[in-house]
Amino acid sequence: MRRAIIGGTGVYGVGGSTVSRDVSTPLGEVRVDILTLGGYEIVFLPRHGKKHDVPPHLINYRANMMALKQLEVSYIYATCAVGSCNTEYRPGDVVILTDFLDFTKSRAHTFHDGSDGVKHTDMSDPYCTNLRTLLAEQAGNHNVSFKGNAVYVCTEGPRFETAAEIKMYRALGGDVVGMTNVPEVNLAKELGMCYAAAGIVTNWCTGVKEEAIAMHDITAAMEKNKQDLTSLFLSVLTGPLDQNHCSCAHAVMELGN
Ligand SMILES: [Zn+2]
Repeated sequence: MRRAIIGGTGVYGVGGSTVSRDVSTPLGEVRVDILTLGGYEIVFLPRHGKKHDVPPHLINYRANMMALKQLEVSYIYATCAVGSCNTEYRPGDVVILTDFLDFTKSRAHTFHDGSDGVKHTDMSDPYCTNLRTLLAEQAGNHNVSFKGNAVYVCTEGPRFETAAEIKMYRALGGDVVGMTNVPEVNLAKELGMCYAAAGIVTNWCTGVKEEAIAMHDITAAMEKNKQDLTSLFLSVLTGPLDQNHCSCAHAVMELGN
């Protein structure tokens, strides 16, 4: 059984000696790197491509997640660069995603197209509770300090949000904003895979703070956080994991005959 890390903006590798592999799925071809560590094969998938050449609204999310399923992955950690609309979460902070608000518009967002019956997916725990707990428990061993839990707002992009939109997202309970976590998180659930994600705050959202942010500070924060987060992810993913402490394997419900 393999485990996986999906790298978001700024995270394009896991270090170590990896082997590249092309995975052919019914929805498209996906290139991944595989790292052998602690007796496990860890699959690394750069969400935007190795060269960051696929914009958020054009990522083939279904092919990505199907490729991980075909590789027999059951546990996935992901990183995502986010803007913050919560003044408690500053650029450079890292947060654990616990829920999301979906404002995407034109993405292939499900595997359940009706061809195999009518299916609905439980979203009461979109980010695996077990993987999240393990992250929080082991963070201190890897120099990772999570600032808190966050509700992720997913926008369609590639444009950034207006000040009025950010005001609305904040009023609705959003903490951080990005363009990629939906449908990635729900597709994982449709395929019965455990999925959790850490958000790396890289900037304030439009209109939240007027203070200038030095680009080198963000770059330094991203560099430090990605190394520590990768170390933490690899530690959890090379330890004992099961699906007895979460509902991810049983989230899909079928109606009718
Ligand atoms: Zn789970």
